[in-house]
Parts: sequence; structure tokens; C-alpha cells
Amino acid sequence: MAWDFETEPEFELKLEWIRQFVRDKVEPLDLIFPHRSFHPLDDETGPLVRPMQQEVRDQGLWGAHLGPELGGKGFGQLKLALINEILGTSSWAPIVFGTAAPDTGNAEIIAHYGTEAQKEKYLQPLLNGECFSCYSMTEPHAGADPTMFTTRAVKDGDEWVINGYKFFSSNARTARFIIVMAVTDPDVSAYQGMSMFLVPADTPGVNIVRNVGLDGERDNEGSHALIHYDNVRVPAEALLGGEGQAFVIAQTRLGGGRIHHAMRTIGLAQKAIDMMCERALSRSTQGSLLGDKQFVQGFIADSYAQLKQFRLFVLYTAWEIDEYNDYKRVRKDIATAKVVMPTVLHDIAWRAMQVHGALGVSNEMPFNGMIHGAASMGLADGPTEVHKVTVARQLLREYKATDDLWPTEHLPKKLAAAKAKYAEYLEHEVGNL
Ligand SMILES: Cc1cc2nc3c(=O)[nH]c(=O)nc-3n(C[C@H](O)[C@H](O)[C@H](O)COP(=O)(O)OP(=O)(O)OC[C@H]3O[C@@H](n4cnc5c(N)ncnc54)[C@H](O)[C@@H]3O)c2cc1C
Repeated sequence: MAWDFETEPEFELKLEWIRQFVRDKVEPLDLIFPHRSFHPLDDETGPLVRPMQQEVRDQGLWGAHLGPELGGKGFGQLKLALINEILGTSSWAPIVFGTAAPDTGNAEIIAHYGTEAQKEKYLQPLLNGECFSCYSMTEPHAGADPTMFTTRAVKDGDEWVINGYKFFSSNARTARFIIVMAVTDPDVSAYQGMSMFLVPADTPGVNIVRNVGLDGERDNEGSHALIHYDNVRVPAEALLGGEGQAFVIAQTRLGGGRIHHAMRTIGLAQKAIDMMCERALSRSTQGSLLGDKQFVQGFIADSYAQLKQFRLFVLYTAWEIDEYNDYKRVRKDIATAKVVMPTVLHDIAWRAMQVHGALGVSNEMPFNGMIHGAASMGLADGPTEVHKVTVARQLLREYKATDDLWPTEHLPKKLAAAKAKYAEYLEHEVGNL
């Protein structure tokens, strides 16, 4: 019997260390340095964060998503899920543990498709936590449909010249390099006509027009860049993978990234349940605790049920990735987790906020950020609707049409078949009467 929901005792000890370390040492950074986790370490953050990163390394937990060939422990996705659900409670934790998006996905594709020289120049510093990276795909006029992208890369001798605009390129302002998706052959299908380039962020012509902020961020705090690539010249060696391979590379990258977001979301939603339950047991109104009111009990039960289902599904999907080692084969379940994730976080955070009354909607509690985060998750790495289409298409492939007028499960048809199957017995029964 191979189904097993237990964690190995030795690994559970590691998880306990992570829980305590994140709670005691890392979460305070979120309060002292909000919105700064993706800024290069400076005189203020460096002296605090670097020793923490060393502690994580000493525990053998740095870059938990990486295989041994890249300097990680090769935990696999299931163990990573158990780690990431803890790291999801803090915006600094992924930086302290070397598992922050979009760097994880970017590292994955350079490891997979990069040349030795590209790995040395870009991958190693990224894995060491020495720099940030950016993934620049969405354009101002088109996001969900990459076949509409127009940013163009044209060969000019030994160089490529990139022109166009990209939107919501996260962390471009602090990245050392940017992975840019551009059209290299407009005469073939977009699936064969786009390529990826590794572009140092300080290349002349990489112009950040503005850094768009999310809700709650002040004007100067935004980190999602509108970039104008204005005659950006890069050498031929800047091409990542082969010419026309952008779609294949993007799928490799986004598969892992999506499930990692789902893992971290479990931790965040659990935090909202913890807050909801504490409040339910601490606050009374009209003669009884909130936790004794049936509406609030309903909030708690629904939240518990929703998160349990989601968590088991994410862990199962992580197990599938380990088992099959093939993102394509697990595509339907990764997309399903991506579809469910924003709703789970939104619903639970919303109920927890409601149970906290006015305090809940104030900026003295973290619920607004969670709810906005849920909305962002419904867009980042592709909108929910597009992933629903993927799920449905994949699922439909597992079925085939009936050529009968009536559905296979049509009861009169099945009854007739059942009667025919047991005709002899039925006649016998009748005969005995
Ligand atoms: C926090 C955050 C970080 C991001 N980081 C990056 C990044 O680092 N790099 C990057 O390149 N991009 C990034 N993005 C952009 C993200 O990938 C896009 O927002 C996403 O692909 C959707 O594109 P769009 O915003 O242009 O929406 P559109 O493509 O305009 O779609 C708008 C809406 O239309 C509906 N819709 C679209 N297509 C369909 C369909 N086929 N069927 C039914 N309904 C549909 C959906 O409701 C969708 O939300 C980020 C986004 C967010 C929110």
C-alpha cells in the first residue's frame, strides 16, 4: 500500500526548524522592510539578511527547489511543497531561502537551455543569490495571448537588435539581467517564430518607462516595469535555446513557477485561518463568543474544508511531478491548482477579514494585501480563464464521443441492456412465481 500522508521524522525536524526560523527571524523583516525584498541588499538590509541566508545554507536548505547538479539538495517537489507552504507566510522568506520567483523559473530555463557560458554568467550568480533577474514577456496590448506579441528581434551581423514594449516585467528595476521574449520570424506561426534572449539590464536602450505598483505600494515602490526596448543590441550568444524556441522554453518555466505559487499560497491561507480562529475565540458580542455564532462557525468550517482540499491537491500534484518528471504530463493538474488558488486565498482571507470587523479592513491587519494578492494570482502567469480552458481541453482528451443518439448512461438504454444480460435469470424468476 503506497499511499502515505506522513512526513519522514528527519524531514519533519527540518520543517520545524524552518517554521521557527521564519516566525522568529524572517517575518519581522516584512514589517521593518516592507516592499523591499526584491531590492538588492544594502547597508540596512544586508547585515540582517546575509547572516540569515548563511544559516539557511548551513542547514542545507538553500535553494530547496534545486537538484544536486545545481547545488541544491534535490528535495523534489513534494518536500519543496512542505517547505514552500511555510515560506509563503513571509515576503522575505523566499529571498532568505533562495527560492524567490521569478528567479527560480528563470534559473530553471537557463539550466535547461543555456550554454556553458550563459550558465556561468547568469545562472551561477542567480543560484548564489548574488543578483535578481526579470522575465519580460507580457506586452502592453497583449498578455494572455502571446501570439499577439510584437516586440521584434532582428539579426544584424553578429548581433540581434531588439525593439518593442513590454509590460509588467517584475523586478526589472533591480534585476541584473532580463529574459526577453521577441519575434524573430514574423513569417511563421508565433509558436515557431519567437525566441528568448538574455539581456543585461544595463544594456543601452533598455529603458524603464515606469515601474507600475500594486495596491498599497506608493508611487516609487512599484516593481512591475513598462520597458521600452529601443534598439537594444545584444550579441548572437544572447539567444537562449534555439531560434524559435520561446514557447517551448516558456512552458518549461511557467509549469514549475505556477505550482510553487500554489505551495506558498497554502501557507498564506493557513495564516488567515489562524487569525480568524484566534479572533473567533477572543471577541464576544451579544452575549457570546464569535466562535459560538453559527455564521462564524460556517466561515471557519468552509475555510478549513477549502484549504484542506487545496493543500491535498497541491501536494498530490507535486508528487505527480516527482513521479513522472514531466511537466507536460501534469499540465492539467498544475493548471487546476492555478485556477483554484486565487479563490481559495480570496475566500479565506475575506472571511477572516469579516470576522475582524472594522479592524479587518484597516491597514492595521494584513487582509487587504492578501485579497489583492489573490487577485494578482489570478493574472500572474496567465489569467484564470485561460487555465480553465487548458484544464477542460486536457480533460476532454481523456474522453471520446458516443456515436449513439442516446448518451452511454441513458437509463432506458442501460435498463434494456441489463435486462438482456440477465434475461435467462429474469425469465426463471418469473417462472417461479
Ligand atoms: C503581480 C503580477 C506579476 C506579473 N509578472 C510578470 C512578469 O514578470 N513578466 C511578464 O511578462 N508578465 C508578468 N505579469 C503579467 C501577466 O502574465 C499578465 O497579466 C497575464 O498574462 C494577463 O495578461 P493581461 O494582463 O494583458 O490581460 P489580458 O490578456 O488583456 O486579459 C484580460 C482578461 O481577459 C480575460 N481573458 C483573456 N484571455 C481569455 C480567454 N482565452 N478566454 C477567456 N477569457 C480570457 C481574462 O479574464 C483576463 O484576465 C504579471 C502580472 C501580475 C498581476
